Amino acid sequence: MTANITGFKSDQVVLVTAGASGIGLCIAQTFMAQGCKVHICDIDSSSVKQFTEVYPAATASVTDISKPVDVDQLFEDINQHYGKLDILINNAGIAGPTAAVEDIDIDAWNQTVNINLSGPFYITRKAVPLLKKSGGGSIINIASNAGLFGLPLRSAYTASKWAIIGLTKTWAMELGADNIRVNALCPGSVNGPRIEQVIERDALERAVSTASIREIYQRQSSMRLFVDAQDVANMALFLSSDLGAKISGQAMGIDGHTEGLSNWLT
Ligand code: NAD
Repeated sequence: MTANITGFKSDQVVLVTAGASGIGLCIAQTFMAQGCKVHICDIDSSSVKQFTEVYPAATASVTDISKPVDVDQLFEDINQHYGKLDILINNAGIAGPTAAVEDIDIDAWNQTVNINLSGPFYITRKAVPLLKKSGGGSIINIASNAGLFGLPLRSAYTASKWAIIGLTKTWAMELGADNIRVNALCPGSVNGPRIEQVIERDALERAVSTASIREIYQRQSSMRLFVDAQDVANMALFLSSDLGAKISGQAMGIDGHTEGLSNWLT
């Protein structure tokens, strides 16, 4: 169910990274439904083209957030279109390798850290001056429940998501006096194509069925569930509204309460 917050300030400019598909697209749609001016970026040019065709009122850039030169161009585009920014959703992130620590490919490690950790840093350092100019704002970092627990066979992903929670708390401290709130969302498994790929890779690595991996993932949640992208988008909207005006520096589970991410089969 889509949240609809009465009195949400609809003239706000929102940047959603990796907004052309998955959770980011759902977040973009949710803010657009509130009347916000939404700019998305994504590395996938065909998804960006499709997005701008479906949502002509929104704007978009083709951006690899792990490349500072791309991020500079993204902010030139935002400045040209709007000259301001009120809400930043650092959503882009990849699953990274599924492998035991001794088997992780170094390039795959670096790619995961570059996109999941350095990317949000490159974006945020350019966004903060604009948020300050707006007199305040909301930064939402999409972390994961893997930012709150250990997760076997996902070292690079887990490291990058713990790190983004550290940045969330640090930035909340640095920016609180400027009326900029910074929070992290920690979804559990989110229904959609990405979790299906994660399940398939995990099943392959362990030589077991995808059904047993899915059952393990579901049992990690007290409520025995996977969440939907809309659940994540609704919390991003709440935290960016006046209802969330005094919430900062938090890492919030959206996961039916994760008890732990131990996924050993025996
Ligand atoms: P996804 O794999 O569906 O990817 C969404 C988009 O990211 C795609 O459009 C892709 O083109 C874009 N992208 C990939 N690399 C990029 C880059 N370098 N620069 C810009 N765009 C790039 O992902 P998702 O499931 O929508 O996940 C979104 C966020 O939520 C990620 O940070 C992810 O770690 C987090 N998350 C996802 C789940 C889940 O189960 N799907 C669970 C917890 C947290």
